[in-house]
Amino acid sequence: MAAAMAAAPRLLERGRAPPHLRFNPFVLSGYRPASSGAGCLRSLFYLHNELGNIYTHGVPLVGFLLLVPGALPWAPPAVAWLGLAHYVACAAPPLASVVYHVFMSHRAGAGLYRRLLALDLGGVAVVNALGAVPIIYCALPCRPGPCGAALAAYGALCGLALWGAVGAASRGGRLAAFAGPTLFRLAVVGLRAAGGLGAQGALAPYARMEALALLGGLVNLARVPERWRPGAFDYWANSHQLMHLLVALAILHLHWGVAADLHWAARHPCPPA
Ligand SMILES: [Zn+2]
Repeated sequence: MAAAMAAAPRLLERGRAPPHLRFNPFVLSGYRPASSGAGCLRSLFYLHNELGNIYTHGVPLVGFLLLVPGALPWAPPAVAWLGLAHYVACAAPPLASVVYHVFMSHRAGAGLYRRLLALDLGGVAVVNALGAVPIIYCALPCRPGPCGAALAAYGALCGLALWGAVGAASRGGRLAAFAGPTLFRLAVVGLRAAGGLGAQGALAPYARMEALALLGGLVNLARVPERWRPGAFDYWANSHQLMHLLVALAILHLHWGVAADLHWAARHPCPPA
């Protein structure tokens, strides 16, 4: 660790950081200088203003990868492809986020940064798209036609959301782009509550997931607390890190809901066609 610390490059004040990395005006110091891919990877081992962002999604990523499969039913009559979709949904946002935050200071510059940002938003789109598949499946159990139509409509909404988010000029625009899939999910959860469809114990975790994800988006939008004391939260506890933690908690609640739904589906297999 001492050798790694000694290898840390001199960090930059905001005014000397690459322009495309100065997106938060209240983070004043701790910027990594542009470097090679290996240099970006070395930044996993010294303190800079993206380190908290890397680990607030890196640690949950390892947790999801190790723990999610064991909590799901896999043997028939469980619906294994739903479990697989959920596993990918849980891992995609933190994995894309870690890659984005590790390599955003690569010397390839603003062009690569835009592609990494699109990758980060792609992870959000994947958890929106695949995360909701079990939620929708359990609203229309054993009705492959209507279920397929609902999944196709929802998938189209998620594609539109990603397109809107990548093209958005602001963080607010990126957050608003995902309103369509969110409203669709809320409608499905409401219908399931009204109709007693699927695991009813899954609905409260789904509602908490939506609230946590929205709160995370709003904290990131508000840039609180660093807005109140610019420079005081450059390394720890700034809005982006808080958003990461809230998103990880949202995925955890999604997982609790989906685990309940998949166990319910395994207990209620469809009759042979
Ligand atoms: Zn992030």
